[in-house]
Amino acid sequence: SVVERIAAPHSGPVPFSVEFFPPRDEAAEARLWRAVRVFERMNPAFVSMTYGAGGTTRDRTVRIAGELATETTLLTIAHLTAVNHSIDELRALVGAYADKGIVNLLALRGDPPGDPLGTWTKHPQGVEYASELVELIDSLGDFHTGVASFPEGHHRSPDLASDTENLVRKLRAGAEYSVTQVFFDVDDYFRLRDRVVAADPEQGAKPLIPGLMPITSLATARRMTELSGSTIPADVEKRLVEAAGDGPEEDKAAIRQVGIDLCTEMAQRLIDEGAPCLHFCSLNFTKATSEVLERIGIDTRGALERASV
Ligand code: FAD
Repeated sequence: SVVERIAAPHSGPVPFSVEFFPPRDEAAEARLWRAVRVFERMNPAFVSMTYGAGGTTRDRTVRIAGELATETTLLTIAHLTAVNHSIDELRALVGAYADKGIVNLLALRGDPPGDPLGTWTKHPQGVEYASELVELIDSLGDFHTGVASFPEGHHRSPDLASDTENLVRKLRAGAEYSVTQVFFDVDDYFRLRDRVVAADPEQGAKPLIPGLMPITSLATARRMTELSGSTIPADVEKRLVEAAGDGPEEDKAAIRQVGIDLCTEMAQRLIDEGAPCLHFCSLNFTKATSEVLERIGIDTRGALERASV
């Protein structure tokens, strides 16, 4: 399981993991596989595959997650969401993953397709909250579930206290760990950790895995935070904007370097303060994440020389 893997001996200063997303076409699938093979050599604790909103992507996701589990040495987590699924469909989906040997699942509610911040409507025969999905998965067999957590609070939570309560509810429902939304202020992570420990020490002892993403473009970072209802702190934004320069074209190489510096600084503080594992949202690219990994002392086995993107 994920929890066993991150507790097992590892060579670098901290275990790390990598998140992939389902490719849309064959070219993107080829790029994903190049990334998979680059990271596989670095021995991540696990990799995860996100779950999209549309039908064809969903089928491809299940197929590729299955291939990750069976054709690589990687411990694979499949994300699944309650969006547009009846409970029968969710059961079938969990069964399809189990058939491919995937027993580590990240149970998510998901967002309304098209407008992630729009009104959430549950499927008439579906589930309302991720905690119910955790219970459903556990009722189906011997699975290991994780859930999402939000250092800045989930955008639908009225306040941080109820947001913390919800995370604790999901952990009490049987989730073994949580992975956080990508954040850019490390203190938000530590404050979340403190809130969970204060609310329920037993649940607070479960791994809270920070989600990191090296920013390589201002536009991508802004879009990502807009879609998820999270923020880029003013000082981080300032460093990126300064790197962009005031010329007619933004200095992409400088932004990328600052993004990698920022991520490295965050990773180092997280290691120093005992984060159990660092989870990198790679967007199916390898270079920026490899550079951060190398700088925090993880053996990337020459990945930077071999990585093409
Ligand atoms: P929930 O835990 O159900 O919470 C949703 C809201 O309901 C929260 O505001 C919560 O406080 C509230 N709530 C929950 N239970 C109750 C209750 N009993 N009473 C009152 N209020 C309650 N999305 C995808 O589509 N695919 C992915 O693969 C994916 N992967 C992700 C991975 C990570 C690590 C993270 C952090 C997010 C991911 N997401 C993904 C996004 C996620 O689906 C959204 O953030 C979604 O809006 C919330 O999902 P959740 O599982 O946290 O929902």
